Amino acid sequence: MIGWVLKKILGTQNQREVRRLTPLVGEINRHEEALRTLSMEQLRGKTAAFRERLAKGESLDQLLPEAFAVVKNCCRRFTEEKRRIRVRGQEILWEMIPFDVQLIGGMVLHSGRIAEMATGEGKTLVATLPTYLNALSGKGVHIVTVNDYLAARDADWMGEVYRELGLTVGCLQHGQTQSERRAQYACDITYGTSSEFGFDYLRDNGMATTPEDQVQRRHFYSIIDEVDSILIDEARTPLIISGPVTVSTHQFDKYKSIIEGLVRKQNTLCTDWANQAKEKVEKGDLQGAGRLLYKVKLGSPRNKLLLKFQEDPGTRRAVDDAELEMYQDTRRTELYKTKEEMYFSIDERNSEADLSQMGRTFLNPNDPNFFSVPDLITTNHDIDSNAGLSVEEKIKAKAQAQSDYEEASQRIHNISQLLRAYCVFEKDVHYVVQENKVVIVDEYTGRLMPGRRWSDGLHQAVEAREGVQIDRETQTLATITIQNYFRLYEKLAGMTGTAETEANEFKDIYRLGVVVVPTNRDCVRKDADDLIFKTRREKLNALIEEIKKRNAAGQPMLVGTASVESSEIISRMLRRENIPHSVLNAKQHQLEAEIVARAGERGAVMIATNMAGRGTDIKLSPGVAELGGLHVVGTERHESRRIDRQLRGRCARQGDPGSSQFFISFEDDLMRNFGDSRKIAGLMTKLGMEENEGLQHPWLNRSVETAQKRVEGRNYQVRKHTLQYDDVMNQQRTVIYAWRSDMLNSTDPRPEVFETVDERITSEVEARAGTDPVDLDGLVHWANSAMPVGLQKEDFLRAGGKEEWAKLLKAKVREAYEVKVKFENPEAVKALERFVVLGAIDRLWQEHLYAMDGLRTSINLRAYGQKDPLIEYKNEAYGMFGELMARIKEEVVHNLFRSASSLSAFESFLSALPQKAGRGELPMEAAVQPTEGSMSMQAEGGSTVVEEALAPMKRQGPKLGRNDPCPLDSAKKFKNCCGATGSKSCLKVSA
Ligand code: ADP
Ligand code: MG
Repeated sequence: MIGWVLKKILGTQNQREVRRLTPLVGEINRHEEALRTLSMEQLRGKTAAFRERLAKGESLDQLLPEAFAVVKNCCRRFTEEKRRIRVRGQEILWEMIPFDVQLIGGMVLHSGRIAEMATGEGKTLVATLPTYLNALSGKGVHIVTVNDYLAARDADWMGEVYRELGLTVGCLQHGQTQSERRAQYACDITYGTSSEFGFDYLRDNGMATTPEDQVQRRHFYSIIDEVDSILIDEARTPLIISGPVTVSTHQFDKYKSIIEGLVRKQNTLCTDWANQAKEKVEKGDLQGAGRLLYKVKLGSPRNKLLLKFQEDPGTRRAVDDAELEMYQDTRRTELYKTKEEMYFSIDERNSEADLSQMGRTFLNPNDPNFFSVPDLITTNHDIDSNAGLSVEEKIKAKAQAQSDYEEASQRIHNISQLLRAYCVFEKDVHYVVQENKVVIVDEYTGRLMPGRRWSDGLHQAVEAREGVQIDRETQTLATITIQNYFRLYEKLAGMTGTAETEANEFKDIYRLGVVVVPTNRDCVRKDADDLIFKTRREKLNALIEEIKKRNAAGQPMLVGTASVESSEIISRMLRRENIPHSVLNAKQHQLEAEIVARAGERGAVMIATNMAGRGTDIKLSPGVAELGGLHVVGTERHESRRIDRQLRGRCARQGDPGSSQFFISFEDDLMRNFGDSRKIAGLMTKLGMEENEGLQHPWLNRSVETAQKRVEGRNYQVRKHTLQYDDVMNQQRTVIYAWRSDMLNSTDPRPEVFETVDERITSEVEARAGTDPVDLDGLVHWANSAMPVGLQKEDFLRAGGKEEWAKLLKAKVREAYEVKVKFENPEAVKALERFVVLGAIDRLWQEHLYAMDGLRTSINLRAYGQKDPLIEYKNEAYGMFGELMARIKEEVVHNLFRSASSLSAFESFLSALPQKAGRGELPMEAAVQPTEGSMSMQAEGGSTVVEEALAPMKRQGPKLGRNDPCPLDSAKKFKNCCGATGSKSCLKVSA
């Protein structure tokens, strides 16, 4: 009911928005009519005229009606002259003039929102309208496609319009050289995939050593095609550039055999319980059986007998009952006790593995505590209150406790990853083993993802399990999530066929509104109710019958599956029935596009895993409409309703006939893990379901949808959580990259360098002068060892108080430096100065990234200590960042005068940079790493925020105490605000 009301309100809001834009359509069309009499030359002249008007202060909004009209008119000319365009080696006849709804879509995109437009509505063409308009600014428009092939296709195809109108078009492709890339970015419009854009950003800002190495210009406006698949499905995928590290911290090989033993023990235990449950079932004691089976589910979720019992609605319900019972608050201790009856317990929903006392004892009978996290806080407290220890001994003892703690955390982390590798991840479902390598299967698309690695040691753990070569651990050199990359743009827009169900998430996280644009022609697709079966076997048999029936009549069908595995099963079954079909496993995008394009022919059967974000639409061949058009069958409901909508939306495009239906069973993962099976089983009995026969009823649809909503909610929470953590990293990266970029692009780096040196001096003087008694000896020692200033204690005493000390040091340092560089080549000196800062930033930032990874891991362990890990993480990350800034400054001071050593370091620094030798050698890795994300979407310009962000950090000096007042907001303690990005985005950490 509430949903219905909400829909009504949203519906009208959307209609209002569309109605608001409609008068502009009339205006565009009037302008377009007026353009028809112009010559092509005159039409092209409009581009220069628009640019002039922009220069005179007119806004893009003001130009919109005329600029859209120019694009539309250009399309009309192409259509009338039957222009053929070479697109990826093939000639395509241009026959499209933007429909009115496409003009509306274009306006939505220009306004920085998401346009939901169904498949086949021509989003590719829609994008040309705002792209042309915004490209007039000369600031570069980036259009993001789902793969390289589509980027190249669209740059060829849509590029014809832009080029005709006098704009330049570029296209990023994997493997392009640096200079090729720079040329693409120099164009008015650049097509490319999100990872190409993101990696270029990382290389530009994390690795480039001269401005000439940088390829991107600025982040002005970006339109993301299939935006839901980029911003939602890929939300947990950071882009990572990594290199190998020298020491390995993983001990998977060491623990592998003992974990195998543990898993075997556990399996025996669980199989016993499952057998006992079987006996109980036979005796009619369903409740007892349910309790036992629930234990099996906790200990070994993929136990064969358990899975079999889950298929039977009766026992299944008993297990659910037992589970429900356990999760009542009053039964918590019982749940705990149950977990202690096995070696370890696994939470399948959260993919977590937890050792019990029994498990710890098995792993190390002599010292079970070897595998538990020491309580550092208590230990430290004990040390502090131990009167028998001297101050020095206390410091030593604490350091020892810290290192014990870290070692134990590492150990437990290793064990937990191994347990996940053995019990949660399944070969040929989550990954395959190919050529002695573990290759991830993408859970959304079912595609193999060679080169991708799970992070946090999980990949190595799976490699250990499969006995393949454990790859060397890698170290992160630069990283950003795709989302955070897109947050850099001044204006962001997206388009997709399915955004509505996720509108809240777009709004909350990215501040992107969604406008549903009406279809050009009414959609006449018929969506039948789901057909539900008890078992997968029954479902598949019925499915094959359905395919046979429709295929005999010649109707084309698209069969959507949830995994590559089930695509293959269905393909085998169809072969047995001699039904010709194609399977889309999508290793080659161009081939894929061709297969998809043929799927609307008479009698075609196409099986595809996950149609989301494939970007090619299915046109009907002549005669097919009379047969009912394309029929879409889903063989499983996906976790998210959006993906199901994507599949359904593949038929009935542009007013075509079409129909769709889902076939599901109780054995599907969604139903197994999240379905309210009791309710559904009850419904089925009520509706009188027979064996071997599918059941269809609107009630059932609703139950399935409830399960989906539950998963959607959980996945949203996971993404949000991830984003909150990444926000911390994102702010830090912003500060560091801005500093780096300033250095890289400054023509005279010396003032920058001395600013840093001065800050370092000030903080050192303050620290030494702040002690009681004043540590002048220490200051003299520090000054002389860091810089060749040759100052005695007497010089300081003669100068006066601490302000004078700082002044004296700053003057002396400049003097010494002048002497040093007097006879050097000034250009070489500049390069060296730049390097002194860049080298320090890069080395220490990379170390910092590694430390932050570690922090992330240990913070999760702290969740056991009943603290909010996010707050802990923010606090510690903040402290670490302060230290990082201080260390960079210290290193700058030290290196400035070590000309010989820094010169040689400079050379080795340059030679160590792989992109100097060619991009191909730059190690790249995109890992699935649930540590990235951020919460607040800033629409303001990337670069201005960056500059603002840097200023306060520089002013602060390196050693601002955590309890000092915040320089931006003196009402707050420094530790309680982020301190890095200005008061606007202070992270309020309520410690
Ligand atoms: P979407 O991305 O929205 O699914 P596409 O951009 O792939 O759709 O376009 C689908 C098809 O519709 C393309 O073959 C294109 O040629 C055609 N099309 C788009 N706009 C028009 C138009 N205004 N008139 C005629 N055909 C069009
Ligand atoms: Mg498309």
